[in-house]
Amino acid sequence: METVLIHPGHQTAQTDPVEPTPSDTSMPRYINDIIVHCTATKAGKELTVADIDRMHKARGWKKIGYHYLILIDGTICRGRAISQPGAHCRGHNAHSVGVAYVGGLDADGQPCDTRTPDQRVALLQLLTKLTKIYHCHVHGHRDYAAKDCPCFDVHNEYDGLYRQVMKI
Ligand SMILES: [Zn+2]
Repeated sequence: METVLIHPGHQTAQTDPVEPTPSDTSMPRYINDIIVHCTATKAGKELTVADIDRMHKARGWKKIGYHYLILIDGTICRGRAISQPGAHCRGHNAHSVGVAYVGGLDADGQPCDTRTPDQRVALLQLLTKLTKIYHCHVHGHRDYAAKDCPCFDVHNEYDGLYRQVMKI
């Protein structure tokens, strides 16, 4: 599983983790949505792609359900290949890209925007690139399900992104 990443501090990853790879484009999939999640884990608890891969396999899924994971230090990791539908938002997996940041719960386990400054930078960077590639809008998981995920107002932060990227 690829975990070559961009870190906001030093963008010297050998391969760009966001650009589609040959394996992504060999099986084209129509994408018209970018859906943001949290991992619903407590603030400060780090999780790796391998951890989530294990957790999602335990639910009977093939592998990690998200396409990208943003670690607490802002590192952007690849999860499931873009060519494959994710397992992150019931009814919306076929045509979307799933992005999750690690966190989403406070110390008491209550829903909370726990994004670190590095995660905010990385999320904006990733969503900007994905918007440029797929020309679609960003939604939160809670737009499609009775959940708190991703525990912040995606529209408040990212509704302007599409117009900005598309220069309209
Ligand atoms: Zn979610």
